Amino acid sequence: MNIPDIIIAIDGYSSTGKSTLAKLIAEQYSFLYLDSGAMYRGVTLHALENGIIDASGTIDEARLKSALENLDLDFRIDGTYIGDRRVEQDIRTLEVSSHVSPVSAIPFVRNYVDEKLHAFGQRKRVVMDGRDIGTTVFPDAEVKIFMTASPEVRAQRRFDEMKAKGQEPVMEEVMKNLLERDYIDSHREVSPLSRAADAYVMDNSDMTLHEETVWFQGLCQGKFGILE
Ligand code: C5P
Repeated sequence: MNIPDIIIAIDGYSSTGKSTLAKLIAEQYSFLYLDSGAMYRGVTLHALENGIIDASGTIDEARLKSALENLDLDFRIDGTYIGDRRVEQDIRTLEVSSHVSPVSAIPFVRNYVDEKLHAFGQRKRVVMDGRDIGTTVFPDAEVKIFMTASPEVRAQRRFDEMKAKGQEPVMEEVMKNLLERDYIDSHREVSPLSRAADAYVMDNSDMTLHEETVWFQGLCQGKFGILE
């Protein structure tokens, strides 16, 4: 099946499997996959490593703003980079996860990331996942998907993912972080997580990845007609 040159926006709650589905779509249809959360995580990692976020979690916004002027955060084929350093693992720790939502609620941080995302979106044939892709970053995206799943299923997935990476997660902490991020992401003033009116909702609590791809193909066939 072919898909025309479009932008596919996948938004939704934390650990709903957005990136897994987005990567699969990218692979199947030769689209570029962009993980917008990685950008927010990169900014947060940089802030933590440079003492811009203190032990109590307070963010020095003035310092963060000037740090962003020189922050060379980039997507490359093999992941997220700060300058020449690949930070793909370092941005996925629980420490980064527990500070990323307050950082990403800051308007100038969103502007910094949005600029990068827009530049990538120029190319079309892009699948991008995040929280506000279909609402704010690419409101004209031709296909919008909003993913959700029960908190229990999501926490278990995140837990398993961290274990597989050799981390030692505690289920209560994973669940707490997930619910905190859901809350902050949905209640912030700028670009809160919300479903675009024209997004298709997928609740994948009980779906296999194969069922998700069949669902996606059905959506595209309905939208673009029968495709070769
Ligand atoms: O997708 P991921 O869970 O890696 O995103 C990490 C965090 O980045 C989210 O919890 C959210 O605070 C922020 N984010 C955002 N807008 C996006 C993508 C991620 O605010 N488009």
